[in-house]
Amino acid sequence: MISPHVILQMRQKTVAGNWKMNLDYQEGLALFSEVINRVKAEVTGIQQVIICCPFIHLHALVQLAQGFEKTAVGAQNIHQSESGAHTGEVSAKMVRSVGAAYVIVGHSERRQEFGEGNVLLAEKIDIALKNNLKPIFCMGETIKEREAGKHFDVISQQLTESVFHLNEAQIDKLILAYEPVWSIGTGITASTEQAQEMHFFIRNQIAAEYGQAAADRISILYGGSVNPENAADIFAKPDIDGGLIGGASLKSRDFVAIVNVFNRS
Ligand code: PEP
Repeated sequence: MISPHVILQMRQKTVAGNWKMNLDYQEGLALFSEVINRVKAEVTGIQQVIICCPFIHLHALVQLAQGFEKTAVGAQNIHQSESGAHTGEVSAKMVRSVGAAYVIVGHSERRQEFGEGNVLLAEKIDIALKNNLKPIFCMGETIKEREAGKHFDVISQQLTESVFHLNEAQIDKLILAYEPVWSIGTGITASTEQAQEMHFFIRNQIAAEYGQAAADRISILYGGSVNPENAADIFAKPDIDGGLIGGASLKSRDFVAIVNVFNRS
């Protein structure tokens, strides 16, 4: 029988950067090279580092990361269809074909700007998994929803409508990210208690649906104004397995300082 402590140790610690719509091709390559060099020089733990970049960078970043297992590359979005007449869109198969391993699904900016809802996001998760891409599925409530006391209901609905159709093998391939919308890019982080409370809730929802072992294995990242100063307190919480980092992922020193929080734990 494996003790809960050992299971906790087995959970993958992950720090993922989300560059959003920043950096031209040359700037992206330069930043990624810096990140890789710093990770090689400074990071001694076994945490996974993922960079989710714009599509134009994907192929080159995958090439730069070759042979360095600690760093993987992901996209920030995919279309829900396999292929076809969807001008301007990029498919999961295309992303996978350049060697990317991850894709962000359900970021609040896509939910808000492009009207992406839970049912569409379920389709995106399915097409990602079908093409061997691991989804980083983002969930989060707005400030209005939190103030109305509806935050647990919102997260529960996002999980139910986008994730809970998956089978046990599929849920193991997912990374979850709790990102309160009011905390993204605002400089306001959820308190460590608020974050832990929600991560615990999410893990319990996974346990109710897939069993405790699956819940103990899944990585749940926190996202929302994480920086080198606040990361240690946030990542110290038992149900927080790392972070999804926006603004601070655009500076290699800050980003790798956040990754390095796990070296100390
Ligand atoms: C994000 O975009 O996922 C994010 C968490 O952004 P920031 O770190 O800038 O709040």
